[in-house]
Order: sequence, then structure tokens, then C-alpha cells
Amino acid sequence: MLLLGTGLLAGAQFIDGELYLEINLVSEPTVTITPKTNNTQITVSETDGLISHSFNSSITISIRNPDILVHYAILDYTEIVTETSDNPKEVVRDFFVWENSRLKIKKELQHFLPESFTTEEEALQYAQKHNISAKKIKEIPMLNSTIRIQDENGNICYLETPVKIHSSADIYLQEDDYTYSGDFVLKTMQKNIVLNHFLPLEDYLAGVIQNEIGNNAPGEALKAQAVAARTHALALLLNNKHKADGFDLCRTTHCQVYKGKYLQNEQILQAVRNSASEVLLYNGNITDATYHSCCGGKTEAADIIWKGKPVDYLKGVNCLKEVQNYDLSKESDAHKWIDKDLAEEDMSSWERGALSWHKSISLKQLAKNAGLDYINSIEIIQRGNSGRITEMKLNGNNTITLNSEYQIRQVFGNLLSSFFYIEGSYSANNGAVTIHPKATINIKGRGAGHGAGMCQVGALRRAREGMDYNNILQHYYPGTVINKDWMDE
Ligand SMILES: [Zn+2]
Ligand SMILES: [Zn+2]
Repeated sequence: MLLLGTGLLAGAQFIDGELYLEINLVSEPTVTITPKTNNTQITVSETDGLISHSFNSSITISIRNPDILVHYAILDYTEIVTETSDNPKEVVRDFFVWENSRLKIKKELQHFLPESFTTEEEALQYAQKHNISAKKIKEIPMLNSTIRIQDENGNICYLETPVKIHSSADIYLQEDDYTYSGDFVLKTMQKNIVLNHFLPLEDYLAGVIQNEIGNNAPGEALKAQAVAARTHALALLLNNKHKADGFDLCRTTHCQVYKGKYLQNEQILQAVRNSASEVLLYNGNITDATYHSCCGGKTEAADIIWKGKPVDYLKGVNCLKEVQNYDLSKESDAHKWIDKDLAEEDMSSWERGALSWHKSISLKQLAKNAGLDYINSIEIIQRGNSGRITEMKLNGNNTITLNSEYQIRQVFGNLLSSFFYIEGSYSANNGAVTIHPKATINIKGRGAGHGAGMCQVGALRRAREGMDYNNILQHYYPGTVINKDWMDE
């Protein structure tokens, strides 16, 4: 397969009925590529294909003149275009839109004023003088910067970016343990080398779902996870979060964790293949198919976790049947439910660990984490429907309000979830609960993750009980429909 000719930030493309993406693997001043085995060939070529070099050993790539790379200019106007541009005073960026139930890749052309500046300071001075908003000052990524490639024997060559790299077999990047193979795109952004894996969405998913739900999960749970991860990937693309970064998705939890073929097996490949292109739509729109490890009994409403507008298909559902008579937003029910024995025989150790856990933290450490000198009392102000504490106050030399489940987990020392109670006596007053903690705080909790969308432990349980992936998805994202005809070619 040939990479199509690209402009600077070309990114995603539809090729032969597949969506190809650039997944960022490295953004650092220097990149080291090491073949896993001796007979691996790494070919680095300029995009016009005229100059290319092949290597059989480890290579180190750096930017030839990093000091001259970053400069600044003032944005004049942007327009939507269909072609890339060779004009260095214009920058083309891809972005994604959802139109008529289809994913479209559009290009935005940024036109700049003729003046350019070596420092941001100079640009600011010019802008002030000419009454131009400082927001219009942009860093201009350099087209056609030169990279230096050095092999193990000290041989050096130079190429103009962007370059494409093809590896005939697995390679390691930097000191990383994971391997990648196939096609890569390398460009420079500011003073960094940006190295991206260029591959079909489906191959990307086969490197994502095992990190999320494990590679030994039952087939229908893997398929449910594949559809959720595929849908989530499209939702991430449509957010255009990495529009200015030179790639489509990153490989960390910021987007979804991608580790190449690590832990990939036949079941993973089958789950992706047997659900090929399937995504979840709601009223013709891509759903935000968010997911988490373990709800703990009920899933949480997305607007409780992220404080946005209510989302119809993310209002929260009962995950376990036994939970239906508990109102987990009430303190006493939350305690009773956390104390109930739930572990099942066929659960793996991570499932049991996520379903029920204990943790201790000293009162001193808690105060330190919250930025306080000491703590006298802890107030639980609000729990969501899943029992997650979404607002609490720490009273000491000052009062600190923690108003998100994520913040609460961090301050208590990286808890698996904010669905917990503190052991010991507490007093309830008009719905608010006050705890006067001892020197050591013992915490008993359930669940792992934010609790919104599909619960992976629940998906595993449903698959073991014989539920198919569509019904699993329907349970956690009610009202959504599976659709596979969304590519705008
Ligand atoms: Zn990201
Ligand atoms: Zn659950």
C-alpha cells in the first residue's frame, strides 16, 4: 500500500473503504527506532518517493536545525479547502465533521499575514502596534524541515520532512517495550519529531481493546468493547482535540490506550473483524460511547460526572439485578450495598478487585494532598445514582470543596472510584454527612473508573451469561443503534 501524497498535517484519509488514521507514538526532539530482529528492513523516504534510505539496524532521528524551526505569524483568515497547499505562508489542517450521518474529513486552510517573527514577543509587539488581537498569533509549523538520521555505524543522512517510514517487521521506539510495524509518518512540530503509526481504524482497534477489557474476555464482551472503542474513537476525532498537533489520536488514556500488537490474539482480531465498521448512533449522531472498568452496581449519569448537559443514552442503568432496591445516592443504602458480598465464582482477580476494595490513608497525608495543614471533619455533600461521591468538603485550617469524582479519587490517594465510605462513626444532618476522622482513615469501596457508559465487569458477566454484544451495548447505551455505513468516501 502506498501512502498518498500529503500536505503537512494531512492525517486521516479514506482509502479503499477504510479509514486510515495517524496515531501518535512519539513526540520528542529525538527518536530512536530499533528493529526487534536482525532481518528487519526500515525504509525512510521523502513523500515524493524520490529519495529514500534503507536500514537494517537501529537508527536515531533528530532535527537538523531545531533553533530555526519555530517562528510566529499572524492569522489573517481561514477557509475550508479540498486541496493541500505548498505555499509556506499557508497551513492546512484536517478536521472532522459529522454531516448527514457520515464522517467527513475536511481541510482548513490558514492564511497568514506576510510578516513573520522569530519570537512570540516580536509578534506581540507587532500585533499591539497594529491593533490586532493576540489570539491571532500562531506558531507556524515548518514545512520541509530537515531531519538527520544516524545509523549504528555512524553513517549519517539527511531528508526533508514529512517522511514516510516503512518497517518490514516489528520495531521498538525509544526505550518502550511495545512493538509496531508497517507504515509510519514522521514530521516536525515545533522542536519535536512527531512519529505517527499510519494504519486503518480496524487495525488500531485490534491494538486498543485488549488494554481495555483484557485479551481473555468472552467473544461477545470483546465485540461489545470493539464497538464501544470504535464509536469512542470517532467521537474523539469529531472533538478535533489534536487538530493542531499533527496527528489524529494519541496513544494514552487521553484518547485510548494503544500498544500495537501487544497482547493481541486471534479472539481480539475476530472481535474486531466480526464487528467491522460497526458504531453506535443516537438519532443519527455518533454517540459518546464512553466506558469504564466497573460501575459497582449502577452506572452513573454522564452529566453528574462531567457536569455537562444530560445525555439521553448515558443516564445510568442498573448493572446488577440485586441493586434495584437500593438508592445509592443515600448514605445508608450506599453503606449497605458496599458491605454486601457480591463476588462471583468465575470472576478474574481484577474483576473482584474492582468490585470490592479497601484502602487506608493517614489523615495527615489526606490534608497534605488537599493542601491543608490539618483536617477536623469531612462532609459528604452529594452522591450520584451510582453511589459515587461527587461533592465533599474537607474542614481544617481552611475548607476545601472537592467537586468532582476524579478530584476526590486523587486527593484520597488514587482511589479506584469515588464510590466508598469511611469506616467509623458519622453523623447525618439534613442529608449532609459529617465524619470526624481518626489518624488513619479506612476506606471501603466498590467500582473502578468514572462509572459512565458501559461497565466492563458487567459486560463480561453478561457475555458469560450468554448475552450477545448488541444486547450488552443496548443495556449500557439504551436507545442507540448499530450502524456500519458512516464513511464518506
Ligand atoms: Zn489524545
Ligand atoms: Zn457494572
